[in-house]
Amino acid sequence: MPIAPSPIQSTCPKCGWSTVTHNRSDAMMFKPPSVCGRCGASELKTEKQLSLSTFFKNLFN
Ligand SMILES: [Zn+2]
Repeated sequence: MPIAPSPIQSTCPKCGWSTVTHNRSDAMMFKPPSVCGRCGASELKTEKQLSLSTFFKNLFN
């Protein structure tokens, strides 16, 4: 069994846009987006998601 990934959620404090970046086992390097995908703000707040329920909640938002 692979170790569960620890997704990182990036949220834009300006417009509320958010996305989740997953740490894939086949990619040693990964990083969340540095700018907002909606308004282009470069002040995204990033945080690790600790629970799968939170992940799925955001996935279907
Ligand atoms: Zn934004």
